Amino acid sequence: MFSIGSFQEVAYIFSAILFIYGLKMLSREDSAPAGNLVSSIGMLLAVIVSLIEVVNPILVLSAMLIGGLIGSLFAIRVKMTSIPEMVALFNGFGGLSSYLLAWSELQSLNSVNIITLIGALTIFIGGLTFSGSLIAFFKLSEYLKSTPSFLNSLSKYLLVICLVYLGLFSSYILLQSFGISPSFLPNFELSFFIFLVVSVFAGLVFVLPIGGGDMPVVISLLNSLSGIAAALAGIVLSNTALIVAGCLVGASGLVLTLIMAKSMNRDLYNIFFVGYKSSSSSRGEVDGEIRPISSEDAYLILESASSVLVVPGYGMAVAQAQHVVKELGDLLQENSCEVSFGIHPVAGRMPGHMNVLLAEANVSYDDLFEPKDLNPKMSTIDVVLVIGANDVVNPSATEEPGSPIYGMPILEVHKSKTVIVLKRSMSSGFAGVQNPLFFKENSRMLFGDAKETISKLVSEFKD
Ligand code: NDP
Repeated sequence: MFSIGSFQEVAYIFSAILFIYGLKMLSREDSAPAGNLVSSIGMLLAVIVSLIEVVNPILVLSAMLIGGLIGSLFAIRVKMTSIPEMVALFNGFGGLSSYLLAWSELQSLNSVNIITLIGALTIFIGGLTFSGSLIAFFKLSEYLKSTPSFLNSLSKYLLVICLVYLGLFSSYILLQSFGISPSFLPNFELSFFIFLVVSVFAGLVFVLPIGGGDMPVVISLLNSLSGIAAALAGIVLSNTALIVAGCLVGASGLVLTLIMAKSMNRDLYNIFFVGYKSSSSSRGEVDGEIRPISSEDAYLILESASSVLVVPGYGMAVAQAQHVVKELGDLLQENSCEVSFGIHPVAGRMPGHMNVLLAEANVSYDDLFEPKDLNPKMSTIDVVLVIGANDVVNPSATEEPGSPIYGMPILEVHKSKTVIVLKRSMSSGFAGVQNPLFFKENSRMLFGDAKETISKLVSEFKD
């Protein structure tokens, strides 16, 4: 006989297929929006099927409605430049829901067994993800100072204490499940309460010391952890869809974490436990002088160039200059100039940030190139137009072993014939380090808001 349980399992497998198929579609820009829809339908199916067994569906539906409304409002109102903060916040709430879910399940268990242990792991990872994501959110929104502070070394020891408590509490549960009552922790209720607090505290001490330049990797790892917490919560609840969705998020987040660490030429231990080293040269004097240039002179240089590389960064996103950048690119091409775009994997404030903005302005993906393709031929490029990028073109990363960003792969634009840098002032980028590019002989500084400056260049071309 076909029971409700087997119907649910079949539906969960079907939604898992939709998740995986949707994820696959996300790997190509033309199929990505449809991929998003396919995965969302899979999730909707899983949620509806889960509701069959719920004791109070009205309560659950009301919570979903309120949560969905708040989430949608956030997503609609958020500026493109604030997407990473929003992702951090959503990861955090994912972790929080696994934390609360496992907490409530453990309260209703009659005995201590292996599920208690899995529930405890869910609480630890969920709690850590929640508080860690909140710190990441505050750092990215610049409510919290992004540079590592004196708390760093203390935080490391506090994190070790949290991990030791996790080990002790897990052993405590294991021994209890075999009928042994260990005496190295107080009674279960008190130990469990301490564990709930320690789990949240672990996220604070884990993320607080990590510097702003490493935040993209941290967010990606927290995303992965929120998936792992959800998969563990799925085991506690025996919910197949939650296990599959959690594993997919956990695995894809981990792959992205590794890719990002590789593109910054850092290993994960260095990112999470060492950080960017502060160096006396990071904010200090740089040899050379800056050479400001007017938009009229910049136009003359561009007008006579036969190859131009555009390197966008966070400043292009702030200025929302992508549409005028596309217009300028078209005008240059009409002027028989070869135009390409250099995209650094961590330019902007989220993975793929520049790709999304340029796609919005209809710049073809065929015109976008990665550093490894561009660096070998940089010396042949006539003009590089750096639009609100800073850290990703900082030559200290390759030339100055004492620099905090030394070792990070960059777009080596200083090797081109002429560099024109568009920014508003001499202030530093996200990593807070000085940029010797601005002082090189072949560099010209075109000060002002990127959108306004490029609009002036466009007008010059049209006149
Ligand atoms: P940076 O943050 O290094 O530099 C951006 C530059 O843009 C600033 O120097 C600023 O200078 C300029 N700028 C800001 N607003 C404007 C404007 N309206 N018009 C013109 N210029 C403007 O950006 P990059 O893209 O080079 O590097 C990204 C950094 O962010 C890296 O350190 C990366 O690790 C980090 N990061 C990346 C994430 C990702 O996933 N991509 C996520 C989080 C952090 P000024 O104020 O003088 O105008």
